[in-house]
Amino acid sequence: MNKPLAELEETYSYQQHVDSGSLYPGIDYKTLPDITQPCFAVEDGTVRNYYGKDGLLYSVLTGITGEWFYVHLSGFIHPDGAQLKAGDNVGYCGESGNTEGPHLHLGLRINGVYVDPGLYLDYNEDMEETNKILKEINKTLIALQDSVQKYRMLEVSKELVDPELYVFKEVEIETGVVKSDQLVGTRYRTKDGDWSEWDMSGASYGNVRTYEVNKILYQECIGTSGDRYIRKSEDGMKWSKWELSV
Ligand SMILES: [Zn+2]
Repeated sequence: MNKPLAELEETYSYQQHVDSGSLYPGIDYKTLPDITQPCFAVEDGTVRNYYGKDGLLYSVLTGITGEWFYVHLSGFIHPDGAQLKAGDNVGYCGESGNTEGPHLHLGLRINGVYVDPGLYLDYNEDMEETNKILKEINKTLIALQDSVQKYRMLEVSKELVDPELYVFKEVEIETGVVKSDQLVGTRYRTKDGDWSEWDMSGASYGNVRTYEVNKILYQECIGTSGDRYIRKSEDGMKWSKWELSV
């Protein structure tokens, strides 16, 4: 869509026209008190010129979007039915008809209904501006995702290694087959302690993690079924039974 004027300064909006009860709502743009200032075709279309009340001159450009009304002109350029390309001069701006000063009233009628032309005027510059804003928003989103990711990693690492939460004991774990072919047992020995008794269970204790919280020694492991088991040793020597951890 092309600009209807070289410089667009909106002086009265579509909504203001609607609010004031205008029968032909549009957008008013400031123009110069110069009767040779051109206004331009916003899109390809056919032009027709009209004479209204109080000496009003206006042109209607019928394009693919609808009928574009260029109102309060000082003069016409083209005969009725002239085919214009977007950007061609439609007419000259002015203050004909009932106005308080020079301005272009730009209206848009689609299927007989006046609509807000601003919704259809997607100038290239505006799209560039919009794209710039979208790029900024994207950057912010990426940064946000990044910090969420970092936060999650921090939480995970805090859970695993935060020394204030978990004091890892130097524990020796011994795993072996005990007493029967089916049962796997585990026993542990703290750095300065004795071996515990063999603790037997159907679970295969892989990757046993031993840590201390509030002076209580815990062990966690993943069982063969994928469940997480936990057990604790309050006196630092004797382990409780493995329990499914919640
Ligand atoms: Zn107006």
